[in-house]
Amino acid sequence: MENTVDIKESPFVQSPVVPTSYDGSKVIQFRCHKEISCFNACCKNIDITLTPYDILRLKNRLNLTSGEFLLGFTEPYEMDKDSIAGVKFKPVEGGTACQFMTDEGCSVYEDRPTACRYYPVALVSMRKQNEYTDTDSYALVEEAHCKGHLENRSLTIDEYRKEQGLDDYDVQGRGWRQLILKKKSSGPTVGTPSKRSLQLFFMACYDIDRFRNFVTSDTFNEVYDLPEDLKKTIAENEVELMQFGFRFLRQVMFSEETIAMKGDAYDKRLARKQEREAAGLVSGESVATPDSSCDHSECSDN
Ligand code: SF4
Ligand code: SF4
Repeated sequence: MENTVDIKESPFVQSPVVPTSYDGSKVIQFRCHKEISCFNACCKNIDITLTPYDILRLKNRLNLTSGEFLLGFTEPYEMDKDSIAGVKFKPVEGGTACQFMTDEGCSVYEDRPTACRYYPVALVSMRKQNEYTDTDSYALVEEAHCKGHLENRSLTIDEYRKEQGLDDYDVQGRGWRQLILKKKSSGPTVGTPSKRSLQLFFMACYDIDRFRNFVTSDTFNEVYDLPEDLKKTIAENEVELMQFGFRFLRQVMFSEETIAMKGDAYDKRLARKQEREAAGLVSGESVATPDSSCDHSECSDN
């Protein structure tokens, strides 16, 4: 089903994104293969945002920690005016091509990111202000250099998504997309995130190895009341840990009660902080109450 927009009214007239939104039943004409004249053209000038699941897959493929992967292959950027962080691929030194492009094609093909799988389709997730659920639709990207649109093959967007292994990627990326949409659609009611919650967002979404250390620390477990089986699961399974991170961030950023807190967490934190202050180890800043979880300094290392 198509939802056509008058192109003359559209802000996308100069854009390769066709200004029409589609659902998965839309039939497209497209094929990409090694013999095509434009082979690799799309990987020579990249602007690719990575999802948390993309990072997890790629860092494991390369046998790197998340921190090593972020340093070597990505650069952060601000997704919105409140400094919610996104992470993009860092191109080759002094150039615009993807670091994983080879003459033979993509060297990480089985673990290529969501955006590479979708191309030339774009996923458009939207949420209206104060609505709780988001809706997905698709747009087509038609760039002059991409000759795949001239190939004689027709399939629906749903078939294309399946072929590209996107079912799994979309499921695993949904929690992250929902956080971003909720932040963008909440407006001033949610307020500007504190520096601490922005740091937690970055760590939980993109630096999964550091996040694992954080949630398995005594400090975290002193505050949050996690069942033993959940502790074990998130310590051993990275995908579950990533999903737990999205839940945790809903609590940190939007004060949703997604994770039970220990009743005596505040008292214990305060007592420990006072002990450390008395010993001259920290300055006399206040400890946030569990109610002010957007600030989240109860989870800090101080
Ligand atoms: S990850 Fe692979 S498909 Fe994506 S831009 Fe890089 S080389 Fe191209
Ligand atoms: S057909 Fe399009 S997607 Fe495939 S290599 Fe060419 S430019 Fe890239």
